[in-house]
Amino acid sequence: MLKPQYIAIPLFAVFIAIEAFLILRSGRDEYDSKDAWTNILIGLISAIFGTLLALATSIVYITIYELSPFKMPMNSVWPWLILIIADDLLYYWFHRISHESRLFWNFHVVHHSSYRYNLSVAVRQSWFSGVLHWIFYLPAAFVGFPFWAFALVHGFNLIYQFWIHTELVDRLGPLEWILNTPSHHRVHHGINPQYLDKNYAGIFIVWDRMFGTFEPEDEPVEYGITTGMDSYNPLWINTHAWFEMLEKLRSRSGFLEKLRCIFLSPDMNLERVSALTDQEAMVTGARR
Ligand SMILES: [Zn+2]
Ligand SMILES: [Zn+2]
Repeated sequence: MLKPQYIAIPLFAVFIAIEAFLILRSGRDEYDSKDAWTNILIGLISAIFGTLLALATSIVYITIYELSPFKMPMNSVWPWLILIIADDLLYYWFHRISHESRLFWNFHVVHHSSYRYNLSVAVRQSWFSGVLHWIFYLPAAFVGFPFWAFALVHGFNLIYQFWIHTELVDRLGPLEWILNTPSHHRVHHGINPQYLDKNYAGIFIVWDRMFGTFEPEDEPVEYGITTGMDSYNPLWINTHAWFEMLEKLRSRSGFLEKLRCIFLSPDMNLERVSALTDQEAMVTGARR
């Protein structure tokens, strides 16, 4: 089954082009076309890898669904509503762990390593995240959502997240309370100290409000990753974090310490502090 988010690729291309045109025409900002083309190339290859990995890993989902005693009746409305909400909640935890555990961050860092913030960044996705991210969605199989329904809802969740990667849309009034918006997601991409590890939402920002990870957009956002990324090489962008982890593993002694290095937080704040000059650190009051 072809995922809905990949069927939407032509639409993504049109909107990326329209946004680039609007930014260039406004003259208020430059458009980094080298970065945008890198994002698009990474996105296209990630769609190919994503399809292949989904073919392999969906077998596990389908097996759990078949073995489960529960089956949701997808011919009525309420299971669809529950699936939309449940999928978004699972996405929240998948995304949060993708930031707070080094193993998962090694995949997700690809999406955050652009210093820009525009629609092309939305398609800058890890080539290899399909190796592991499916495990977060197995509860949906166990409670009886068939794979085709899950793939449909999850695909539309990812399509929703495309349009929030823009600086052209300001605050959206009361919608900001319920939905993940461009403003909330700009914060998520920020490396300003107060923006780190905030706003993990997919569609509904209510999860961040509930689980204490919400931060409103206040000061202008500085985008990127705390450890820096000075390459436009798609292969390096997808693999550099693994080399960094291997290097860190070498300096850890003992099996438990190595496990901690792999699974615990990459402690980005700490790495940020070391990257800042002392003076900057004093001004920003960087934590940890
Ligand atoms: Zn993220
Ligand atoms: Zn994003």
